Amino acid sequence: MRVILLGPPGAGKGTQAILLARDAKIPHVSTGDMLRAAVASNSPLGQKVKKLLDAGELVPDAVVIDVIRDRLSQPDCKPGFLLDGFPRTVDQAKALTNLLKDLKAPITHIVELKVPDQVLIERVKKRGAESGRSDDTEEVVAKRLQVYWTQTAPVTQYYTSIGKVLEVDGLGTIEEVHARVMKTVGR
Ligand code: AMP
Repeated sequence: MRVILLGPPGAGKGTQAILLARDAKIPHVSTGDMLRAAVASNSPLGQKVKKLLDAGELVPDAVVIDVIRDRLSQPDCKPGFLLDGFPRTVDQAKALTNLLKDLKAPITHIVELKVPDQVLIERVKKRGAESGRSDDTEEVVAKRLQVYWTQTAPVTQYYTSIGKVLEVDGLGTIEEVHARVMKTVGR
């Protein structure tokens, strides 16, 4: 199984990604987690991207594409993987298509978590209060949603134009949504 999980900030993507990866026994590949780890370790990559993460802006395509190419080339991704937070632009999606062509490993499922806008804002603000994530403040949340609608929503259109996007209702408890996701991917 090679899965892409799409959805706006606050749709529950991270939580659902962890559960799906666990049950499908595939690595959870989150560019956000990898970039935050780079910032925490103060690596050259971390130094380069810290300001962008804190501002809720996207890291340049070339940077994340390099990160993803390295990660997907590792042996544990051979049997499959779940992408969470990547691709976030149409150029990233096109680069991924080419990369997976080279690896002879096409995507098998594209899942989109659907949640109404008003619910998203409330959820992300609540998470900010609980998680202490430096990019969950109200101002940065608004920025991240804006970035999503301008740069990332077109990714869904791109995938709709070349394949099937499986829509999943993201409202309900974590377990309810998880059950829907598993059913949608045929597990
Ligand atoms: P996330 O945990 O997926 O919400 O990502 C947190 C932050 O990491 C984002 O707000 C971006 O600054 C950066 N980021 C994560 N994934 C990407 C990506 N695919 N392209 C560009 N920036 C990204």
